[in-house]
Amino acid sequence: MMEVDVIVIGSGVIGLACAAESAKQGYSTLLVERHESFGQETSSRNSEVIHSGIYYPTGTLKARLCVTANNNLYNECSRADVWNRRCGKLIVAVASGEIEPLKKLYERGLANGVDGLRLLDAREAKKIEPHIECNSAIFLPTTGIIDSHQLMKSYLLEAKEHGADTAFGVEFIAGELKDDRYQLRLRDTNGENVNVEAQYVVNSGGLRADKVAEGFGIDIDKAEYRLHHNRGHYYTVSPAKSKLISHLVYPLPHQHLVSVGIHITLDKAGQVKLGPDMGYLDPAIPESEWYKFDDSRKDKFFTAVRSYFPALESADLSPGQVGVRPKLKGSEETVKDFIVHEESDKGLQGLVNLIGIESPGLTCSRELAREVFRILKN
Ligand SMILES: Cc1cc2nc3c(=O)[nH]c(=O)nc-3n(C[C@H](O)[C@H](O)[C@H](O)COP(=O)(O)OP(=O)(O)OC[C@H]3O[C@@H](n4cnc5c(N)ncnc54)[C@H](O)[C@@H]3O)c2cc1C
Repeated sequence: MMEVDVIVIGSGVIGLACAAESAKQGYSTLLVERHESFGQETSSRNSEVIHSGIYYPTGTLKARLCVTANNNLYNECSRADVWNRRCGKLIVAVASGEIEPLKKLYERGLANGVDGLRLLDAREAKKIEPHIECNSAIFLPTTGIIDSHQLMKSYLLEAKEHGADTAFGVEFIAGELKDDRYQLRLRDTNGENVNVEAQYVVNSGGLRADKVAEGFGIDIDKAEYRLHHNRGHYYTVSPAKSKLISHLVYPLPHQHLVSVGIHITLDKAGQVKLGPDMGYLDPAIPESEWYKFDDSRKDKFFTAVRSYFPALESADLSPGQVGVRPKLKGSEETVKDFIVHEESDKGLQGLVNLIGIESPGLTCSRELAREVFRILKN
């Protein structure tokens, strides 16, 4: 049986960052992934935004990690040669009733310690984005965009350079703690069982992190780990209208932060994307259909974005990608924080579960990995 110090389950951006951090800190490390390659799920189906940390309630893990992560991630990109652009972002108040909530959001940004944010009137906002109409706006100069694939690749390289092993096409099935060591049952693509032993386990199973926790005998309803899958669509915008935008532009977020609203993002090639919307997936829908694009929402996207980008026409929109969020609540209630929990209280010392790692998980990937090893070393 293979024996290591740390097993990391899942090779999305979080698992890759955890494997890099683990190997760098001198632990023998095995990264296990059910797909044949890394980053096949949420980590390659998102807005690729380096968030500032303005949105999240002050004092939450999301707020704390995101503000630290923002600055650190730009430095990390320079070190590892990962493409990024600190393009800046506007959050706009369009209707007059949105001005007060926008000010509250600005104050939250100040309380969270976000760098350089400014409250702008309509004229100042127009100077920054001439084709955007609003009453007032928050400007966030530290928000940017990143090539998420390059970031994941850099974590994988770092993990390997420090001696980590990888097992792709290998699924975690179940694990138990015996004499202070975890024994994990894995299954490869031929259906063969593989057993490995480790002192520590990091569960970064993304959309299935709750199922992975269940595989260690955790009651996920009692622990409040059950995930609800929430789908978001993106439309791409014609090159002619993409040229009119040079910053990210967001509406006011949903009042309970269930989503940050259908926004305008840019990618590496300057292509404008609109999205994501939100809608809970019926648990009966098979995984093979999660990422199917439903074009019936085009009018909703067009109306939402045209309210602040009037040059947009319906014909400018084409179907883009679909991403799925691992949400900790299935309704529109107050948003939950990231869960990063070491399970000693359940008799499972050395197992860390990362649950509900939705946005800003990409931005916080390195900080989440550091948090995991801070907890394990305590
Ligand atoms: C629509 C959308 C937009 C977003 N936009 C942003 C953004 O702009 N900025 C930002 O910071 N964040 C954003 N996020 C959040 C960010 O994408 C996620 O937080 C991040 O990608 C989560 O990474 P992960 O590694 O936890 O999950 P994943 O990328 O889903 O990786 C989990 C991995 O675990 C593997 N796995 C699961 N179960 C098993 C098992 N039993 N055995 C082996 N492997 C297993 C899966 O195959 C998968 O590869 C967005 C998310 C969505 C959905």
